[in-house]
Amino acid sequence: MAKKKYKCAHCGETSVLKENDVRICLSCGFQSMPGYIEGSPYMEAMMKTAPMIVKELKFHDKEIDRYWIPSILDVPQKGMVFPDGTLNDWVWAFASYEVIPLFERVNYKVPNTDDEYYEYRLGLDKVEHFKQDDFLGALKKLGVDEEELM
Ligand SMILES: [Zn+2]
Repeated sequence: MAKKKYKCAHCGETSVLKENDVRICLSCGFQSMPGYIEGSPYMEAMMKTAPMIVKELKFHDKEIDRYWIPSILDVPQKGMVFPDGTLNDWVWAFASYEVIPLFERVNYKVPNTDDEYYEYRLGLDKVEHFKQDDFLGALKKLGVDEEELM
């Protein structure tokens, strides 16, 4: 059964899924959570490590006095969806994880371990792009469908 969708404060489409006050728009890919408040420790910690494009695109929603930011979804062994580009020229990107050949793993040591090596790397040379309003298209590449998203 299709889930109820709400109008997006960011892009205006009726594509927002909402659960426990977590909101995510399937069109523009922006999301908002209870901690996304100006000056909150959560927001500050997140912005410290966020990519520049996320910082630049964050959007303040006056109605709920909260920020919306573009989603970054990382599914281990599967792939990653993230905003790619600059403030005036960005798109959604999907990159899949690929298995690192055994003989190359020596180059992919896990930080702060003695003998652990990554088995997967993100195939950033084969990124697929989707329009700003086609977050759902990128999600589908990730194997996620909207029914299981929330
Ligand atoms: Zn939206």
